[in-house]
Amino acid sequence: MANQNTTQHSLKKDKYVNTRGGNSHFLDLFCSKCNQHFALYQKDGHGRLLRMYLDRIFAPQELALLQSKMSNKTEMPNLKCPKCNALIGTPMVYEAERRLAFRLIHGSFVKKKSDGVYPPSHQNQSHEKGGSDENRN
Ligand SMILES: [Zn+2]
Repeated sequence: MANQNTTQHSLKKDKYVNTRGGNSHFLDLFCSKCNQHFALYQKDGHGRLLRMYLDRIFAPQELALLQSKMSNKTEMPNLKCPKCNALIGTPMVYEAERRLAFRLIHGSFVKKKSDGVYPPSHQNQSHEKGGSDENRN
């Protein structure tokens, strides 16, 4: 349960959630090379995780703050593993909604369902490979 310095986050509910059918949930994202947790993320709707919108990153703080600091993609850094420095995502704009995002590199990460607590509690759940879902976003 939530103890020490953990934070329980709440799902965002806005127009982006509605356009994706409202099926929002938290994901813990891990580097596939070294297993380092690198982000707590809110995924809206079904389908593969192809990109990470900045406004859906809840933690860690340095990533979560990008949504207020960045106004265009040329300012954005690449998304890298904080531990082994593996490249995970590159800056992009999702033009349909004009939202800044990281385009995720297939196979660079693994995702796991989260209850929105950060830092994540270490449970013995099996990792789900990123991009192994059937549907596209
Ligand atoms: Zn790593």
